[in-house]
Amino acid sequence: MEDAYDVVVVGGGPGGEVVADRTVRAGLTAVVVEAGAVGGECSYRACVPSKALLRPGAALEAARSVDGARQAVTGTLDAAAVLARRDRFTARGDDSGQADWLTGAGIPLVRGHGRLAGARRVDVTGADGTVRTLRARRAVVLSPGTEPALPQVEGIDRIGVWTNRQATTADAVPGRLVVIGGGVVACELATAWRSLGSAVTQLVRGRALLTDWEPCAGEEVARGLTGLGVTLRFGVSATRVARDEATGAVTVETDDGTVLACDEVLAAVGRRPRTADLGLDTVGLTAGDWLPVDDTCRVTGLDGDWLYAVGDVNHRAPLTHMAKYQARACAAAIAERAAGRPADPGGWRAWSARADHAAVPQAVFTRPEAASVGLTERAARAAGLTVRAVEYRTDDVAGAALHADGYRGHAKLVVDETRGVVVGCTLTGPMASELIHTATVAVVGEVPLERLRHAVPAFPTVSEVWLRLLEAYGL
Ligand SMILES: Cc1cc2nc3c(=O)[nH]c(=O)nc-3n(C[C@H](O)[C@H](O)[C@H](O)COP(=O)(O)OP(=O)(O)OC[C@H]3O[C@@H](n4cnc5c(N)ncnc54)[C@H](O)[C@@H]3O)c2cc1C
Repeated sequence: MEDAYDVVVVGGGPGGEVVADRTVRAGLTAVVVEAGAVGGECSYRACVPSKALLRPGAALEAARSVDGARQAVTGTLDAAAVLARRDRFTARGDDSGQADWLTGAGIPLVRGHGRLAGARRVDVTGADGTVRTLRARRAVVLSPGTEPALPQVEGIDRIGVWTNRQATTADAVPGRLVVIGGGVVACELATAWRSLGSAVTQLVRGRALLTDWEPCAGEEVARGLTGLGVTLRFGVSATRVARDEATGAVTVETDDGTVLACDEVLAAVGRRPRTADLGLDTVGLTAGDWLPVDDTCRVTGLDGDWLYAVGDVNHRAPLTHMAKYQARACAAAIAERAAGRPADPGGWRAWSARADHAAVPQAVFTRPEAASVGLTERAARAAGLTVRAVEYRTDDVAGAALHADGYRGHAKLVVDETRGVVVGCTLTGPMASELIHTATVAVVGEVPLERLRHAVPAFPTVSEVWLRLLEAYGL
């Protein structure tokens, strides 16, 4: 059986859902092929459950950081209630709500594993082994996301190691958890399970956390983790793991000669593209590779305007909001090209995912939170910009002190001296995830500092840190 649609989308995660919705709204037909659950990793095993696990600890800390409210909070987190609340957000993996949304939006859902079968064709293998061929009149959009990469540790494939999947869906709190990794996922999940009562040891191969961020972010997050009782060990790698069949306990050997005993090991050392079985070879691409794209999300190195890739798989900005942003740009580009109008990459156009290069906002929901947008000082200098960085301790801002007793936070602004505009901002502290959007607007808007000084933050809010940063800059 062969069906034809204007657009065939492989992967119904955040990227795939939005690209299908937008192309249909633009008057084209689209179909979504999904092998697992509509909503993708984000809805069931990543962003949503991890934030559901983290939020109760943050709420408790917020109450405890205001004298007067603190006295009203006497207990600890109710782990069972936290896990139950998480399950309400994820429906325990039941995607019927999101699947209904898709079909309600006029987008047929084909369940099964999609593979390219040459140009503009996708073969979908269903659970019963039958193959259905979908033909794309205009475009195929690949949005299969990523899967966890495992570290090179002897025995890691034999102990039932946790990845983000188990660490966001577990029904019980492990007594002792060893986390391998120092990036965002490792730090967030170490925070979540420590808050729920696990004794957590985090093994970090390097000397710092969040190494792609401004150093202040990694330092503040490390301080927070230690304050929560996480044992952070830098410069240490796991070399061998083994599970005792009788007791279920795991031993973790490290390269400094220590042996740790724990109940679960979480590997959070990065992601790899889910492209090994996507039929890439049928169109001259290499199985297992990332899919580089131009700013319209068109896959590069291929003739024709028909193959696009959005979301984590294009390796530009592995975040849900950026997958959706790319999806909006991609759908606009497909619609423009279908209408015979050139949707050339570049510029701040609807079909250009240009913010991927200049203004990717990201938040880490640790305690304290960290959030950033744009370039770090190091990245800006590496890109050849003449920059000046200013920093300010948010603790000194009146609104911050009123917000929480002993508010601790750090703010850093990276200014392109040639153009007089902000190109990067990093914030730490309570509410950093909410505060960062102001910086995103400033970066995308390329607002001159001379104009930004007229954007007056309300008193007494944490946002007054903007005033202090501009004063530190000399305005
Ligand atoms: C623990 C964790 C926490 C995170 N927290 C955040 C956060 O707070 N904020 C944030 O912005 N980002 C967060 N992320 C990142 C976020 O999850 C991803 O950026 C996002 O899910 C990417 O969306 P996507 O559409 O590219 O892929 P996915 O969400 O991975 O969806 C891909 C879909 O494609 C399907 N699929 C794959 N191959 C095929 C095939 N061949 N045929 C059919 N279907 C296929 C899969 O089943 C899946 O449903 C987090 C990630 C992790 C691991």
